[in-house]
Formats: sequence, C-alpha cells, structure tokens
Amino acid sequence: METIKRVTELRARLAGIRRQGKTVGFVPTMGFWHEGHLSLLRQARAENEVVVASIFVNPLQFGPSEDYASYPRDLDRDGHLAEEIGVDVLFVPAVTEIYPRGCQELRTIVEVQELSGRLCGEFRPGHFAGVTTVVCKLFHIVEPDTAYFGQKDAQQVVIIRRMVEDLNMNIRIVAGPTVRENDGLAMSSRNVYLNPAEREAARVLNRSLQQAAEQLKTGERDAAKVSAAIRAMIEQEQLAKVDYVSLSDPAKLSAVSVIESPVLIALAVRIGKVRLIDNLLWAG
Ligand code: AMP
Repeated sequence: METIKRVTELRARLAGIRRQGKTVGFVPTMGFWHEGHLSLLRQARAENEVVVASIFVNPLQFGPSEDYASYPRDLDRDGHLAEEIGVDVLFVPAVTEIYPRGCQELRTIVEVQELSGRLCGEFRPGHFAGVTTVVCKLFHIVEPDTAYFGQKDAQQVVIIRRMVEDLNMNIRIVAGPTVRENDGLAMSSRNVYLNPAEREAARVLNRSLQQAAEQLKTGERDAAKVSAAIRAMIEQEQLAKVDYVSLSDPAKLSAVSVIESPVLIALAVRIGKVRLIDNLLWAG
C-alpha cells in the first residue's frame, strides 16, 4: 500500500493505473475507522482492481460550534487496517493540500439545493455544502469508476447521487448497508464520546426505528402516528433529546403523510453533547 499526502503525487500514481485500464473504487472517509468503514472498503476491494481510500477530516463541513477540533483521529491504526484489507492507495492530505488558500478563501461551493436544507440540513446549516464540495474535489482528484458510501448517512447518499447526476459525473455510487453494534447502535466514529450511561441511552435510536418497522408491518400507514411513537419512545430516555424524526420520500426527502410506497425513516438525537443519527429504509 502507498500512503500519499499530495494531490500531484496521487494524480501521477493514478494516471499510471488508468493507462493500464484498471477499474478504480474509491472510499472517502474522515478516518477513525470502525466496521462500517471497513465493510465499504471490503466491498470496494471485492469489486475493483484498484482501491483508493481517503482520510480527511473536512473543516468545511463542520459548523463553528461543532466538533472539528476534537473529532477522533488515529491515522496509524487506520493505516494498518487499510493494509490488512488490501487498500492500494491511502490518500491522507493535510487541510492546506485540499484548501491551499484556506477554507475562508474558497470561492467555489458545490451545493445540492433543497435536498441539503432538509433533515440534518435544518440543524447543520452549510454541512452538506461542505460535504458535496469536498467530495466533488476528491472525485476530480481520484476520478474513480465507483465510489462507496454508507447508508447510515442516508441523506448524504441521496445528495451525492443527485450531485453526480446533475453535474454529469461519470461515477457509479454504491451505498453499503449500515453496520451496527451487537445491541443495534449504528457504528459511528462519534460513539467513542459516549460515557457508559449515554452509550446505554443511545440504544433508543435503533429501538425506536424497530418499533416503527413493527407498526408498519402491522399495517399502520399514518406517518404522524409512527413519528409520534418514535418521539415518545426517545423522550422516555432522560439523556436523549430529539433533533428531528422524519418520514420522507427516499429520493426527494420531502415529508410523507400517508405511507404508500417506500419511506425513509430518519432521526437525529442528541445524547449529552453527542449528536447521533440513524435511519431505516422501509421498502413497503
Ligand atoms: P465518515 O468517516 O463518518 O465520514 O464515514 C465515511 C463513510 O463511512 C461514509 O460513507 C459513511 O456513511 C460510512 N459509514 C459510517 N458509519 C457507517 C456504518 N455504521 N455503517 C456503514 N457505513 C458507515
């Protein structure tokens, strides 16, 4: 495996690979890998001749009061995991490599309108524009055939698919299933912030989604009722505060009132200082 920090060096390396006609799979991440990341890397490994992974904690997607500075990082450990999985190229640029003039001086922002303002976008203004801008830059640098994202961040997948479509990017987007802890909590790099009581309380996210799935299975079609039941369960957890519970169209992310076709049930909950998200795609 090669670990590369510079854009020019990565481009030179990939030009050689492309001349050989090899397929390139790309997994962009912010590092501090867990099984969720590893499952995407393994899928990329199985489906491509060359696998590129990136680790970049992107300052542009964090709000001023968010956890950019304290976001967990462990490049050594991630590097070893990348070796084990068989990643070919690990791209680990510094912030100055991606934003040579600094984030404040960036004059081009890629934003998927409307979709970026819904769900998490209402609570994290500018977040998805930060994501799409950096993913667009990384796509231009790597020029992968296929890029892999986790369904855990369902809104992110929808937004990136739309960016790729709107901007005619010739990249296939694959969404990998959410990987969970044994008790159902969706894996997240931020779970390490949870103290034992908060970790216990965090189980309510998946539990409330499972309850919703049961309701749908037994014929409930009123989105307001499903959403109210999710809220009620979460509110019973003293340490949990709901940011939102949403039942929406899986592509448009617009609110659904009567559940007739597939629906994305998504939620964001703050447990202490940690904001967690989870979702369930109900296929109907
Ligand atoms: P991050 O490092 O948090 O930006 O995540 C990098 C990629 O891993 C994104 O596409 C995430 O959606 C994906 N991911 C994060 N957590 C999980 C999980 N529990 N299961 C599957 N994919 C995940």
